[in-house]
Parts: sequence; structure tokens; C-alpha cells
Amino acid sequence: MGSERPFGLKDWIREVPDFPKPGILFKDITTLLKEPAALRETADRLAERFADRRIDQVVGIEARGFIFAPLVAVRLNAGFVPVRKPGKLPAETAARSYELEYGTDALELHVDGLAPGDRVALVDDLLATGGTARAAADLVDSVGARVEAIGFVVELTYLEGRRRLEGYDVVESLVRY
Ligand code: AMP
Repeated sequence: MGSERPFGLKDWIREVPDFPKPGILFKDITTLLKEPAALRETADRLAERFADRRIDQVVGIEARGFIFAPLVAVRLNAGFVPVRKPGKLPAETAARSYELEYGTDALELHVDGLAPGDRVALVDDLLATGGTARAAADLVDSVGARVEAIGFVVELTYLEGRRRLEGYDVVESLVRY
């Protein structure tokens, strides 16, 4: 299927043990970001997988989702809409709380960030337990837009986060552990 590539994206991801807490093996994507070909390949491949979904807006999740979502949006001729940590967005917001692999947090979206019926692709760097992506998808739903696709650079398959995203037919990840 033409899957022979000159390099594997996984080769550019650095694993840092015990960050930010003991027992967490952190997947560091900064080593991928600084490699021009890997950065371009990551954005191209995510965009390719969303290309047939007629995406209006790419929603990125703070903070590392902000790195990839605009790159994908530009390739799809779509806009970029941020989902942010509490207290960062200036206008009226909708909010959802969620559990992380390491802690709890909440996310916010401007209520007018998406129009009703907008076709949305959701992008984050990594799928772990799926709590973050689920909260972001629920926020998109809550303002009347539709999550057409969800994409991650990295998926920790052993945490089964995909199960939290059942009901969304396009859930893509480029690198799996
Ligand atoms: P979750 O809600 O459990 O799917 O966690 C996903 C979010 O937490 C993503 O935004 C990631 O950036 C971050 N995250 C969780 N676990 C890791 C990990 N092992 N390495 C890097 N980032 C992680």
C-alpha cells in the first residue's frame, strides 16, 4: 500500500521516564518538531486522513494540539479553533472537566467559536486514556457542531483511550505504542 517511507515518525519521538511524575513514560514530540521532514510528514498524514470529510474547522487542544492543528487546517483549507485550559479564552465559553493520565483538568471553548453544523476535525498530540479528547468532543457537540474526525500523532493503545471515543467513525493516530 505504498507504506514504504524514508523514515518512521516513531524514530523522532523521545521517551522521557518519570515525567512529569514518577511512573509516567512521557512521549516527547519536541524531537519530532525540530526535524523538518518529520514535521511536514506528520501534518501531511493527518490532513490526508481527514481530506474526504469536508472539514470546516480544525479544533486543537491546548497546548500541544495547538502545534499540529493549524498545520492540518492550512492543508484542508479549514480554520483553526482553540480548546483551552480554564480562564484563557476571553469571550463567553462552554466548559467540561475531565481526567488525565496524571491528574484532572478542565477545557473551554468559545460558544461562538464554531457555527452550528460546522464539520470539525479534532487534533491533539497524544491519545492516552481519552479523557481529554472526549471532553473536547463533548464541547464541540455542546455548541451544535459535529466532530467528523479525531486525529493524534501518538496513541498509547494499552490505555484503550479509543474506547472513550466510540461513536466517532474516524479516529486516527500516526504512531502507536
Ligand atoms: P488523556 O486525556 O489521558 O488521553 O491524555 C491525553 C493528554 O495528556 C494529551 O494532551 C497529552 O499531551 C497528555 N499526555 C498524557 N499522557 C502522556 C504521555 N505519556 N506522554 C506525553 N503526553 C501525555
